[in-house]
Amino acid sequence: MWTDTRPPAEMPKLFERGADVISLAGGLPDLDVLPLDEISAQLGRLVRLGGRLALQYTTPHVAKALVPAVADLMAREGGLADADNLIPTSGSQMGLTAVALALGSPGDTILTQTPAYPGATAAFRTAGLLPYAAAEDAEGLDPVELRRTVQELRSAGHTVRLLYTNPTFQNPTGATLAVPRRAAILAACRELDLLLVEDNPYGLLGFDGTTTTLFQALDPERVVYLGTFSKIFAPGLRSGWIAAPAHLRHDLARVAEIISLSPSALAQGALAAYHSRSGWDTLIDRYRDSYRERCALMADALDAELGTGTPWHWQRPGGGFYLWLRHRDRADAGPYARAAADRGVSVVPGGHFSIDGEHADGLRLCFSNVPRRKIAEAVGRLSAALTETPSE
Ligand code: PMP
Repeated sequence: MWTDTRPPAEMPKLFERGADVISLAGGLPDLDVLPLDEISAQLGRLVRLGGRLALQYTTPHVAKALVPAVADLMAREGGLADADNLIPTSGSQMGLTAVALALGSPGDTILTQTPAYPGATAAFRTAGLLPYAAAEDAEGLDPVELRRTVQELRSAGHTVRLLYTNPTFQNPTGATLAVPRRAAILAACRELDLLLVEDNPYGLLGFDGTTTTLFQALDPERVVYLGTFSKIFAPGLRSGWIAAPAHLRHDLARVAEIISLSPSALAQGALAAYHSRSGWDTLIDRYRDSYRERCALMADALDAELGTGTPWHWQRPGGGFYLWLRHRDRADAGPYARAAADRGVSVVPGGHFSIDGEHADGLRLCFSNVPRRKIAEAVGRLSAALTETPSE
């Protein structure tokens, strides 16, 4: 069992070398789409007109003016948000930590979809929880195996209360769980009395604008939903939310307050002002356009360079930030990632997303932030590294 609880941003940095490196490693949004003048005017107005409030500590609630803006986002995937179920966070990373501390006890097992966002695994382990890879089939999380695994773990004396998933345009695979599968997983969760933790930073970033009904929409009492402005506005505002079932709200709010005292009134004010003047549509469309285009450039280049006669395969994602390459013979991708770094392109090897060493044959390529003109060059360098035998 790994006991790695390194901060989530560390690994991509290990693979960056020198000024000429093209990074496909960090999962960063394309902030060129942001209307900076508009945001800066709104921030200026907030400080000028309401500085004493905007720069003060605030109450540990999602600001009243921000509630409709969050509700507007969640409604796009069928989700429910109102002043009663929302808890502010500084982003989903804090949400994950709050969930682990409030809803788990040290030594509990948390079932996790894998490959998993490493920040989630690190948050769970830091709270003393033991992540355990939930079984999957070709459609993703497998409800039949879920029942078997939970029963086995419980008969062996383990406490299992939580199931973690990043169900739409998953980090790192780009995969999305279909709605019937979501319903089947929720049915299993009800039978097994599991709470489902739905971490959904990418759900509105489908390239064709379609969305998938949230777990939270299907069963709001069974699901703790983690939302964030990081991928549809800007991660630098460090703002997100938990939408919690009524019976868990108090415990989660208490822990959230212990972690951060209060949300940033300035960030919340900026987001609310932006939404009330401009709405979300334009910005989300611009993000989608940017990622659709970058993803197509990268996938076309991969098809041309690695499409035939190589052991690497992948699927084009329908949205999000990531392309996930896998080695046909399950070879460890770590040495290939190092060879790629030597050739000036950084990618993240699959082991970084493991719980127990699985998925080491994967490579995560992030297209969301790489300049368009560098994509062909990046894929050329990567292909050269992936088609030779790497030194161990
Ligand atoms: N969950 C997932 C699946 C992520 O990919 C990320 C960021 N890469 C986070 C949570 C954390 O995001 P934030 O704290 O910026 O909201």
